[in-house]
Amino acid sequence: MSPNCNFIAGTWVPANSAATLPVIDPATGAGIGSIADSDVEDVDRAVKAARAAYDTGDWGRTSAVERGRMLSRFAALVATRAEEISALESRDTGKPRSVAAADIAALVRYFEFYGAAADKLHGETIPYQNGFLVATIHEPYGVTGHILPWNYPAQMFGRTLAPSLAVGNATVLKPAEDACASALYLAELSNEAGFPPGAINVVTGRGAGTGAALASHRGIDFMSFTGSPEVGQIIQKLCADHFITCTLELGGKSPHIVFADADLDLAVPAIIRAIVQNSGQTCSAGSRVLVERSVYEELVPRLADAFAKVTAGAPDDDHACGPLISARQQARVQAFVSRAEAAGIPVLSRGTVDSCANAGGFYVTPTLFGPVPRYSELAREEVFGPVLSVLPFEDEEDAALLANDTDYGLIAAVWTRDGGRQLRLARKVHSGQFFVNCYGAGAGIELPFGGTGKSGHGREKGLAAMHDFSMSKTIVIQHG
Ligand code: NAP
Ligand code: MG
Repeated sequence: MSPNCNFIAGTWVPANSAATLPVIDPATGAGIGSIADSDVEDVDRAVKAARAAYDTGDWGRTSAVERGRMLSRFAALVATRAEEISALESRDTGKPRSVAAADIAALVRYFEFYGAAADKLHGETIPYQNGFLVATIHEPYGVTGHILPWNYPAQMFGRTLAPSLAVGNATVLKPAEDACASALYLAELSNEAGFPPGAINVVTGRGAGTGAALASHRGIDFMSFTGSPEVGQIIQKLCADHFITCTLELGGKSPHIVFADADLDLAVPAIIRAIVQNSGQTCSAGSRVLVERSVYEELVPRLADAFAKVTAGAPDDDHACGPLISARQQARVQAFVSRAEAAGIPVLSRGTVDSCANAGGFYVTPTLFGPVPRYSELAREEVFGPVLSVLPFEDEEDAALLANDTDYGLIAAVWTRDGGRQLRLARKVHSGQFFVNCYGAGAGIELPFGGTGKSGHGREKGLAAMHDFSMSKTIVIQHG
């Protein structure tokens, strides 16, 4: 990697201006480097490199089989360097070491999965009038833009780039300014896997500058965005200005729905894991526990005991939680907790911050609240930290109402042994994924994923992503 450079057309290119942004270690708050704060000209250079790769370069001439092999080679290369990349990711984001290692394993799976799928995106033939043959084919858009968040940078590199590359698009990626290290490293590594210049370009910088320049660039044919609903709306509007579509993955307020007949031994650890994972900075975090009132008094002490054992500490010490990504995110989460306390919402339990953790790190104390009033901020808004809300419900109908009582709709889970109830709720609850007696599929690369409402639209992961990253074309042949 080369400091303050972008990765464009297979090589390090110094940014147009000398402006840089600091790289901060979330575990200490100390500066550990810098990245380029790229401007419109840098973005233009990257988009032009991608366009050239697609329109006239080697990348645009690759067959699906060749692309599949490149993706598979890249997966193998990442696997051989997994330890080095996960250490880099852990340092850059504050992720506990085992979480970073799991992320790199998922990154490998993304490239394996889409590498194997690259030559399996079939079209169809359609019966039409006599004397005609009609076929559909799936074509790449051309150049796809990708704006990533900071919570799963390496995984997201795989989730969004691998399917787009598999179908043949050239790509331009802007990682989050708080977490660029793995994207820059992986971009350079792509050369070794044989990706031709311009297939993968990475430009660093601020959202409102570099990110907006990318989404509004006329040379981009499709945008993939993951981040906040507020910025998602901005992206969609920028895309509308030049008539392109986008996928938006914007987070959630995902519920566990726990009935009295649930296997609580199974549910409790899964519920804790689903909010503690990645220090709560997960779009699909299970941040609401909806509990049938008749089992509330039994479940709550069990959750409180388990929550009290959750510790946050230095990434290398591999606690359940690490620091949050930034001082800004730490302040945001702490403000949610303070407002909830000021509103009189009872704290059921708190975890601890390890006494050895550096005082300059962005740690927050994991906190369990309940009963949380239905119309409170804590019941409806995404906190994006290790803060869990428990809410009682009366019956199945009430459970569905409560589950759907946010603007989000990303994932949901039901915990019950009643098969009819499992399926009724699976149909009623607004979400892109629904789990029965289990929760979440972070590493479930095969499983289509995405939201509804304020959680966004479009599908990533699984074969669905290859459809979203390509266009169907209908070819009509008159043969007489
Ligand atoms: P964000 O602002 O939406 O950032 C996501 C990405 O969009 C980053 O790369 C960011 O650049 C970029 N961006 C920001 N403003 C932009 C603009 N005007 N035009 C184009 N791109 C722009 O998210 P955040 O501020 O980091 O986090 C805020 C909240 O969003 C979190 O607390 C959480 O609730 C939610 N969030 C959700 C997810 C998810 O997975 N769904 C991920 C992260 C955050 P910078 O690098 O300059 O920020
Ligand atoms: Mg960082």
